[in-house]
Amino acid sequence: MAYRLSRYQQARLDAAFARADRESALRKQDGRCKYCLCKLNYKNVTRDHVVARATGGLDHRNNIVAACVRCNRLKGSMSVKLFLRLITHPLPGEHMVYRMIWFDRRLNIALDEMEKNVFRAVGIKQ
Ligand SMILES: [Zn+2]
Repeated sequence: MAYRLSRYQQARLDAAFARADRESALRKQDGRCKYCLCKLNYKNVTRDHVVARATGGLDHRNNIVAACVRCNRLKGSMSVKLFLRLITHPLPGEHMVYRMIWFDRRLNIALDEMEKNVFRAVGIKQ
């Protein structure tokens, strides 16, 4: 006889799996948002479905990346290919918010580079 969970138990179980997916994605991505590369923690990370559920994406860890709230909301049910194009090569006339993410990405990459150079200069191995 299979044990049936109550709705409450099922919701708690789903939330635990969602939390585990979110946290494991965050660890894999070095604590960064997949899109803007900002630093995230376990409190502000969200699960982004690479292929949105609205377009047939599965609720499975292979389809989940860690993203900040802004990127997750903005991407919505957009394809990841289009979203990456919008934030890595924003074109004139496209919404300003994509340019802001583009800028954040560039800034985060530059800060990482600077940090590496500082550590190298003082002889700290990372
Ligand atoms: Zn982000």
